[in-house]
Amino acid sequence: MQDSTAKPLLWIIVPCYNEEQVLPITAPLFLKKLEALAAAGLISEKSRVCFVNDGSKDRTWELICQFARADERWIGISQSRNRGHQNAVLAGLMEARDKCDITISIDCDGQDDLDAMDEMVKQYLAGAEVVYGVRSRRDTDTFFKRFTAEGFYHLMNLLGADIVFNHADYRLISARVLEQFADYKEVNLFLRGLVPLVGFPSGTVCYERHERLAGESHYPLKKMLALAFDGITSLSNKPIRLITGLGAVFSLVSFFGVLWAMYEAMIGNVVAGWASTVCIVCLMGGIQLICLGVIGEYIGKIYMETKARPRYIISERTWQPYERKYRG
Ligand code: UDP
Ligand code: MG
Repeated sequence: MQDSTAKPLLWIIVPCYNEEQVLPITAPLFLKKLEALAAAGLISEKSRVCFVNDGSKDRTWELICQFARADERWIGISQSRNRGHQNAVLAGLMEARDKCDITISIDCDGQDDLDAMDEMVKQYLAGAEVVYGVRSRRDTDTFFKRFTAEGFYHLMNLLGADIVFNHADYRLISARVLEQFADYKEVNLFLRGLVPLVGFPSGTVCYERHERLAGESHYPLKKMLALAFDGITSLSNKPIRLITGLGAVFSLVSFFGVLWAMYEAMIGNVVAGWASTVCIVCLMGGIQLICLGVIGEYIGKIYMETKARPRYIISERTWQPYERKYRG
């Protein structure tokens, strides 16, 4: 029988990569939020803030271990090397899934509004199993970031990948959903596209995104493009189909091109057709290369997936530090 006074146990999952500057500022904020939520009777007193060290090269892991010694509600796990933001979040979620009732994943830089958590937990208590944090404004982003990011969401939806507009990786997921999510074994991770695929009732909470409190962004244009490309190719087959269509159209065009070239040759105008022939050859060459590239991208994905390598390796836990033991 369910105890009516029981509260859901929350784990806040915080991926951290080289964040020694911002962690001392934000770690106490996460703890305060946990206290406030518990005081409001929304979550269990046993809730935790779980940092995931993503193979940082600075003092991040040392700091996390210090926090863990200072207060038992701060805990952490460490990946054996840097695997990227998505895999770090996944490692945290998978670690948490059998130890809590709900998880909220959030970046450690203080950009996402912590107060949105109240509403997330309330929606969970009202029946939602997943609650997406959605940015209401992007004022603090540069024009370029806003333009590329919003363009990306539109493109994704156009390509048939059903992702929540302006939602990054700030979201509540219940342990029940995580249990099912564990069966999604793909190596090419794009969490915000995958979570909606699991289903279950969901909700959204709007919040304003702030500037980073300290340190620098680890998402330069190159990584953003890589993530966008992963998102598109791991959620949609449309690019391959578009290529087939494009191939058909261009074959038709080149067929008329050949007829035209033959006609020109017959009436002795060969030299005059040279420029256009070169244009067509170049165009076709370019298009073929793009097509090969996109197809190659999917083949590369298949290659990576068939290896089924582990997506994360946890080398240490704050409650389970690594110790050398000899058998001799
Ligand atoms: N992060 C990570 N591994 C990486 C890069 C980033 O765990 O390889 C974490 C980082 O510490 C932060 C979050 O992912 O908590 C988002 O990164 P960042 O703030 O640099 O990205 P932005 O908000 O600028 O897109
Ligand atoms: Mg950030």
